[in-house]
Amino acid sequence: MNAHMLEHGGAALPGIAADALDTCARCGFCKTGCPTYPFGGGFETYSPRAKVFFLKEYYEGRATLSPEWVDRLYRCTTCERCQTVCQTEIPLIHLWEKIRSEIVEQGLGPMPAHKKIRDFAAQFGNPYGESADKQAQWLLPEHKPVDEADILIFGGCTASYKMPSMLQSGVTVLTRLDIPYAYAGGAETCCASPLLRTGQIAAAENCISCNLDLFAQKKARYIVTPCGGCSKTLKYDYPAFARKLGKTFDATVMHFSEVYAQLIREGRLKPSIFTPKKVTFHDPCHLGRSQGLFAEPREILAAIPGVKLVEMPRNREESRCCGAGGGVKANYPQMAAAIAADRLREAEETGAEMLVTMCPFCQGSFAQAIQESGSGMQLSGLDALLLASLPEQA
Ligand code: SF4
Ligand code: SF4
Repeated sequence: MNAHMLEHGGAALPGIAADALDTCARCGFCKTGCPTYPFGGGFETYSPRAKVFFLKEYYEGRATLSPEWVDRLYRCTTCERCQTVCQTEIPLIHLWEKIRSEIVEQGLGPMPAHKKIRDFAAQFGNPYGESADKQAQWLLPEHKPVDEADILIFGGCTASYKMPSMLQSGVTVLTRLDIPYAYAGGAETCCASPLLRTGQIAAAENCISCNLDLFAQKKARYIVTPCGGCSKTLKYDYPAFARKLGKTFDATVMHFSEVYAQLIREGRLKPSIFTPKKVTFHDPCHLGRSQGLFAEPREILAAIPGVKLVEMPRNREESRCCGAGGGVKANYPQMAAAIAADRLREAEETGAEMLVTMCPFCQGSFAQAIQESGSGMQLSGLDALLLASLPEQA
């Protein structure tokens, strides 16, 4: 393969070596950890290995984007597991997202549920079609955001509209420690993660542009969010879009797990209420593999007196996806539910009484899996568990 072939469609593959696809050894390591492959009826075309082979054929002009291949290429949660195990270090996530953007450019995609997300994001600024008036409804009476502060809270759509407890916990901790924070409730736009992961670049750019203007206006040094998808996107996608759009973006992005861990290390946050729980922790893909935040959640758990952590066999880099990412839950809800049920079984096999995670998507997926299976497993966000262990003054 030559560089010309990797400029298929007139767009180079940023950060991808021209011969990346040639290095595939066909070893199939990427199949072993892929959460969606087992739900493809055993057909090889559902595997990342086959998709790499297809991309080589496609970029060299011997294959076309048939509806079947478009479907296969959207059956991926962008969990990054394949990329972690690939022995020739093929940047698979870039490839999956790049081909989706080409599918969209050619009018062959995205999937119907993803179009709805795009339309809602354009009309309402969030993928759920919620009124912006409701964005700040999660704020509790004791929360007192200021106009400008070093910290700007970025709620994110899922936490703001669907799972406010994650935001409430984090902001309550800051409030109790008298750490000032700004919040632009009602003016935030979707971080664009669901649009980027599904190849809808133009729509994503609109959202990102609005948020970049908001961040410049708020002059925050730190942007703090409870969502793994938002923090990944703000950390790794926004700088490139800011350069492209000629806008400034120099804030440090932090997920709330980083903030909690830092406050615990500094001795400012002292969990002291005894919490006798045997728990297992699910590493959200976009928190762990994407951002390397494996130690922070475990530091927080270790700081809560009484909590005993039992790991699932697949943890940290090897963690199994919950099934929700990459637009899979939106368009392939049955497959997503089966993946979550599979992961829930792993959690149950540890003997833990509580499954803890720290991502609104993972938490929503497991809540559904627990309800549908009748499992007795308790479920908690790490934020809520931490907050319950803190005395009222800290
Ligand atoms: S990113 Fe995850 S779901 Fe997608 S192909 Fe790789 S392992 Fe499979
Ligand atoms: S792990 Fe990497 S080298 Fe092996 S089949 Fe998958 S993409 Fe190819």
